[in-house]
Amino acid sequence: MRVLITTEQIQERIDELARQIAPEYRDRPLTIVGVLTGSVMFLADLVRRLDVPLRIGLIQASSYRGKNTTAGELYLGPGLLADVRGRHVLLLDDILDTGQTLSRIVQLLHDRGAASVKVAVLLRKQGRQMHAVTVDFVGFEIPDEFVVGYGLDYNDEHRQLPYIATLG
Ligand code: 5GP
Ligand code: MG
Repeated sequence: MRVLITTEQIQERIDELARQIAPEYRDRPLTIVGVLTGSVMFLADLVRRLDVPLRIGLIQASSYRGKNTTAGELYLGPGLLADVRGRHVLLLDDILDTGQTLSRIVQLLHDRGAASVKVAVLLRKQGRQMHAVTVDFVGFEIPDEFVVGYGLDYNDEHRQLPYIATLG
């Protein structure tokens, strides 16, 4: 395993993202929606730096394909998402790859009556996007390599690593 982004780099970048994000929601009812399971670290670290009132929602999505990064069938789980009607949603995910997951969830949040939907991802893979999705906040641009750690898994393992690494 080779470390691509260190713990310190991640934490510093999330400080910066929080400083950009918080002012946008000072006077607007905010719901942060995390995509399970990969966004849990990013969500936990980000929300603790946002000094604005907020609610947290979770949505389950998986397009599991192991290390093979051709997009698979997307599964959206039921029932974990709180009522977002009239609320300003910031959707969080670990990584933007093809964009399939986030484009579908943005649409779903609009359908459920969100007042606005913005998207924040910790990582964006270069040269991979196939589905239109506007990403408002990006932690790091990374090359097209399979990464693990800080929420990202391989066979459901390695999520607990505090850094991002490539699997050799
Ligand atoms: P998309 O729908 O944008 O193609 O894919 C997004 C999802 O694919 C992410 O939420 C993540 O679960 C998974 N994914 C994409 N690239 C990687 C990667 O390099 N490593 C891991 N562990 N998961 C990835
Ligand atoms: Mg994911």
